[in-house]
Amino acid sequence: RSRELIEKQQNIDSSAVAYPEDIPIAFDSGKGATVRDVDGNTFIDMFAGIGVLNVGHSNPYVLEAVHEQTDKFVHTVDFPTEARLDLIEKLDEIAPAGLQGNMRTVFGGPTGSDAVEAAIKLSKYNTGGDGLIAFRGAYHGATSGAMSVTSNKKFKEAYTPLLPDVVHAPYPYPFRMEKSPQEAVDHALEELQEIVEDPYGGLANPAGIIVEPIQGEGGVVTPPEGFLQGVRDIATDNDIPLVFDEIQSGLGRSGQWWASEWYDVTPDVMTSAKALGGTGFPLSATMYHEDLDTWGSGDHAGTYRGHVVGMRAGTRAIEYIQEHDLLAHARELGDYIKTRLEEVGESNPQLAEVRGKGLFIGAEFVDADGNPDGDVGDAIQDYCFEHGVLVWKAGRHGNILRLLPPLVLTRDLAETALDVIADAIEHATT
Ligand code: PMP
Repeated sequence: RSRELIEKQQNIDSSAVAYPEDIPIAFDSGKGATVRDVDGNTFIDMFAGIGVLNVGHSNPYVLEAVHEQTDKFVHTVDFPTEARLDLIEKLDEIAPAGLQGNMRTVFGGPTGSDAVEAAIKLSKYNTGGDGLIAFRGAYHGATSGAMSVTSNKKFKEAYTPLLPDVVHAPYPYPFRMEKSPQEAVDHALEELQEIVEDPYGGLANPAGIIVEPIQGEGGVVTPPEGFLQGVRDIATDNDIPLVFDEIQSGLGRSGQWWASEWYDVTPDVMTSAKALGGTGFPLSATMYHEDLDTWGSGDHAGTYRGHVVGMRAGTRAIEYIQEHDLLAHARELGDYIKTRLEEVGESNPQLAEVRGKGLFIGAEFVDADGNPDGDVGDAIQDYCFEHGVLVWKAGRHGNILRLLPPLVLTRDLAETALDVIADAIEHATT
């Protein structure tokens, strides 16, 4: 049945759809951290729809509120609703310390890309600048502005000209740069400082700096201490708004509400999406310091700014994470998973580095010469799919195994999944 559905999809859907084609899986249902396909096979979900299902598939506590809401009404634009105001208040409650109590939230539309567009517009509007600084390896989305700050040329070369005056500074990636963590941070910050402050730096009129506190698509690149603080200092010294893109790293994924909290650094603007819509409803938000709240009424408009069902789901999901202490669970389970992967790496030099925080975990694979090995990434993914575990890849060479399981994943399921992943690694590298 899965094969039939995949064949049908290939015939009628866009050629742009993306899923691993070798193993036919068509989904039928999901619960917690497991999904079933239409042929009755059960899988442990270790990627959660790319980090969306933090409270698990079809979380009943979230869906209870969704059903109540859909029975009443589904759509308004910006008219006040309890759903909207409850979520804004909830986001303020869990905001990084420096934004709590002085934050504004704009709902820019359903996707993460919408939230990034809002952040770019807000930064330009407030500064009058037009240049943007982003980082190598960054992924910020698929709309024109978001593509401009994304660094991978593959995603954008067919659509130029995009936003002019975007410069990508180095992101500290000690493993790939072959530098110590401190050297990688120093190098990244020196380059950033030159772009911003040196007349020959290349950027005439900066409007904003946008950065992922942990890079997701780039390969779960977890910056060493000092980097985000250094970026914060350069932004402050030069009066440039600092945007943290927490679309993948936020809402508990890293074991803190926001990955920036690991580094104790507060942005001026913060984007969220993915897990924001609770158990998978599309919703994004851009949160910012109230000093930047200068837009006039209607200055950032859109039909789906107020998706009431997504908002209800989002508030419930945050409550669920709070009530079940899932941040602590994500930290503990993440440590277990990283330890298991590190144990595999001890006897297998092709597993060169394990990194990440909470349940935002990457394992980087290299070939015998130490070069990125995307074939291993593919082979691990295929083996896992065949053996009932869904995993995703990341990084420019597809050589990073990326684990983003629901935060509700139990220790038992994690152990089973890691047994399969360990076998997959042995299978793919020998
Ligand atoms: N920013 C980051 C950090 C992301 O990981 C993503 C999606 N992978 C986006 C932005 C874009 O989100 P969306 O795909 O919902 O537009």
